[in-house]
Amino acid sequence: MIKIERIDAPEWLLENWEQWGKDYEESGKEFTWKVGKKRKRELVDLLLEMTNDHCSYCDNFPMARSLQETIDHFRPKSIFKLIAYLWENLFVACSKCQQRNNNFDEKLLKPDESDYSFHRYFEFDGETFMIEPQRKATTTDQERAIITITLFRLNGKEEDRGTRRDISLERRRIYRQFINDPNPEIEDYPFRFMFV
Ligand SMILES: [Zn+2]
Repeated sequence: MIKIERIDAPEWLLENWEQWGKDYEESGKEFTWKVGKKRKRELVDLLLEMTNDHCSYCDNFPMARSLQETIDHFRPKSIFKLIAYLWENLFVACSKCQQRNNNFDEKLLKPDESDYSFHRYFEFDGETFMIEPQRKATTTDQERAIITITLFRLNGKEEDRGTRRDISLERRRIYRQFINDPNPEIEDYPFRFMFV
């Protein structure tokens, strides 16, 4: 999970998010975007611009450019209805990271938090190719790192060693590709935390 600098929200979202959130909560109906394809595309494009086309959480690249499925609500929209349209709650995320569904914890790390950085909370193990909590971090920060690794399954599903092995192999393959690349552009690679 790489640090994200948030850019400005589109005007139409700033103007409407509060009312739309209230309407969504009061209606009891299922969430919809309330805007046409063009504005949804604009939203996804802005979110992708912030991550250079990477998943906000696992850093997969390039992101599938499908519309609805790629917008993730950091605080799940089914629980935090009033902020379902709040710009600061929206991230672009891959289908794997979207499987988090309604799982949320107040200690979950948010990649656009002002004091967030990968190295403050995490370290990358170049032998296992797994993301681990930062050994030098405070206990509180380590706890947040563990919750984030678990909820976003940054190292695969804990109960499923197969997914852990797949992720490890995939990262190893990308890592080799990167170090053998005569002119590597880090932004064109997934899992940028391996190289920074
Ligand atoms: Zn992802």
